[in-house]
Amino acid sequence: MRFIWLGFIITTVSGAKAFGMQVPSGVLEKPPTEAAPSEVASPAASAVVAPASNPPPSAPSAEKEPSPGQLSPLGQAPDWKELERYSGQLTKAEFDKAWKDIYSELNGPPPPWQVTEEALLVPTQGDRSEPLKLAFRKGQEDAPTLSSNWRRAASLPPLAGRPVLSDLRISLDPGHLGGAWAQMEERYLSFRQGEAVCEGDLTLIVARVLAERLKALGAVVSLVRDEPEPVTRQRPKDFEQAARDLLTQSGFPDAKLSYKGLSGDAKLLTVQWQSEKLFYRVSEIHARGTKVNAELKPDLVLCLHLNAESWGAANAPQFSPQNHLHVLVNGCYSRSELLQQDVRHEMLLRLFSRIHEEELPLAASVVEGVARRTQLPAYIYTSTNARRVTESPYVYARNLLANRLYQCPVVYLEPFVMNHEETYRRLLLGHYQGRTLLGGKLVTSALEDYVRGVVDGLTDYYRRNRQP
Ligand SMILES: [Zn+2]
Repeated sequence: MRFIWLGFIITTVSGAKAFGMQVPSGVLEKPPTEAAPSEVASPAASAVVAPASNPPPSAPSAEKEPSPGQLSPLGQAPDWKELERYSGQLTKAEFDKAWKDIYSELNGPPPPWQVTEEALLVPTQGDRSEPLKLAFRKGQEDAPTLSSNWRRAASLPPLAGRPVLSDLRISLDPGHLGGAWAQMEERYLSFRQGEAVCEGDLTLIVARVLAERLKALGAVVSLVRDEPEPVTRQRPKDFEQAARDLLTQSGFPDAKLSYKGLSGDAKLLTVQWQSEKLFYRVSEIHARGTKVNAELKPDLVLCLHLNAESWGAANAPQFSPQNHLHVLVNGCYSRSELLQQDVRHEMLLRLFSRIHEEELPLAASVVEGVARRTQLPAYIYTSTNARRVTESPYVYARNLLANRLYQCPVVYLEPFVMNHEETYRRLLLGHYQGRTLLGGKLVTSALEDYVRGVVDGLTDYYRRNRQP
């Protein structure tokens, strides 16, 4: 599901400024009862927004831009030297094009770095640190060959008559958590007692079925999460202090501990709410990032999700007439996101290692397969945090924590609206092959259509791009 930070929904950053607040980089987010259930996003520039009746205490002037040395929530100061090996890798034209066409926000303010004819000058830790200089390659020079953990289709060993996904290492990342965690994560949807659709359980089913199909085509498949439990070993209580600090920074030093009995804005201004968010949204994705980059080292990651439209209160959800599909690739960074040094470093690492050159066409092919199988129309973003980046109306670039941290091509799938009535009923039927009767009509399994679409899209892509 998509994710929308509080700062973007209840008010804008300028709205927060109107309250005289410094806009912190927090994880403070929209409560579940009013917004679309939402997704793992970059936690930049979100703000706690005070209800009008309760203006926050006076805070420092909001006009001063934060230092480029700040970090995203739970982010680690990066090793800037790691980027130096990319000096001489891209021409200025290649850098400019990737920035303009993929990584920048449409019509956003300029990024916090400097581009000269010779080099990119990036601020590192903070205002007073030396900028990192990454030289541009001159047109006639060859780029030095750099090793990476992932391989593009054209660099895989020739097929030589073997199945089309032979040698390909694919990690499947079932979105969210399952079982008892689904309610905390607001990925639990139930229109009647005794039945429920939980995104994190359904994505695990999709991953397990998909894994077998991909293995049969020769792929080496791993699951980033292979049980309902989290990958991170930390739990919400480990983030109580961090949650308190975040709330204090945002002008709420006396936040309540528990959200029991609270709703709306009051609920999210609690230590419990914020520490749970830090656990399942931030710590969990960081743990998955470490697993992907240090252990699994795949050629690509498929992040498996199901989408939803706003369903209102968890205990009285509403159906939506909408049903749609899109995939996300990494890009569309705002200036405020790039002022966070870990985010800036991660984006540049992706751009300079040319991940987008593989990720975009791969995503377009995969989503085409899913569109053919599901017959879903393309979702259309109206917010500024996502942008079209290919010919395909189904592909959007967006800066999510997962597609930024995983250091390889990532295709982040968002088919189906779980609270679309027919989709909800199909999802309750789980995974099956063939057709079954639903309200007097024969229907396929939505999860099986999802799996088949992904298999079709991957097969097409690797058949077109691998050496025979
Ligand atoms: Zn999701």
